[in-house]
Amino acid sequence: MRLVVDLNRCQGYAQCAFLAPDVFEMHGEEALLYNPDADKAQRDAVLRAAAACPVQAILVDAVDGADAEATAGAQGASHAR
Ligand code: SF4
Repeated sequence: MRLVVDLNRCQGYAQCAFLAPDVFEMHGEEALLYNPDADKAQRDAVLRAAAACPVQAILVDAVDGADAEATAGAQGASHAR
């Protein structure tokens, strides 16, 4: 399954890392690492994480079938402030 986190929206609340720790991981206080190509077995956890995200930053299957430009380099991106 494909997922994208809009890191411009993400505020580092870490709800996703709590609900789907195999897919999302906080690095320090603000940087979110995630697997944009998560295993299908993680689907329920990812959907729960997406529902719990206070700013709806997690988009699931939004890029399925496309050559997701958004996933390139998304991993490891961090908040730049
Ligand atoms: S729950 Fe949403 S705001 Fe919080 S770290 Fe995850 S994507 Fe970012």
